[in-house]
Amino acid sequence: MRINSQARLACKTKVKALAADGEEIVVEPMGNMPVVRDLVTDMGPFWQKVRAVEPWLQPEGPPPEREYLVPHEVMRSLADIAACIMCGACVSDCTVLETELGLEKPSEQTFLGPAALAKGYRFVGDPRDGAHADRLLALSRAEGIWDCTRCNICVEVCPKGVAPMEQILALRRKAIDQGYDEYLGARHTLEFEKTVRETSWL
Ligand code: SF4
Ligand code: SF4
Repeated sequence: MRINSQARLACKTKVKALAADGEEIVVEPMGNMPVVRDLVTDMGPFWQKVRAVEPWLQPEGPPPEREYLVPHEVMRSLADIAACIMCGACVSDCTVLETELGLEKPSEQTFLGPAALAKGYRFVGDPRDGAHADRLLALSRAEGIWDCTRCNICVEVCPKGVAPMEQILALRRKAIDQGYDEYLGARHTLEFEKTVRETSWL
């Protein structure tokens, strides 16, 4: 829910912490999702976007004779993302999604959003997955990683330390390394870097 204008887990938010002196507390439904009734929102669009990043392993070639071996440090780097509980808090407060609310139908909201993109990195960063190039290409297109404005809100509201914006930035670096640099955001980033290197001007 949105409590005092910020997405929070209602099951963990203590009244005492917000209203120690009896201040008024405002409770609203989550943002950026159609409201069904009262505090109930339709998370259908949320799940559609998560499904759109194909959140399952797509290994290349036949499976190994025994188990897949993954370096411990790699799995540790993915552990924070895997901790996502799909609460939707980051989506609720994402500023880019909020700008899309002006669209005639909420279902036309297009930006994949922080939760789905963080989930996307979960698989791009997994060495067992064989679809990295395809995933990065799909996520580079419109409505994907380059639509984030890096406002950091999703990092602030996530109750599990997933830091979705950091995962989006990691996806951008991987997409450019993969050669997917023709997209507007990628071109802007590369030109910006070039200008700084050549002129020292920001
Ligand atoms: S950092 Fe990007 S994904 Fe996160 S809330 Fe801001 S615009 Fe949305
Ligand atoms: S990334 Fe964080 S805020 Fe977003 S759905 Fe997952 S746990 Fe919730």
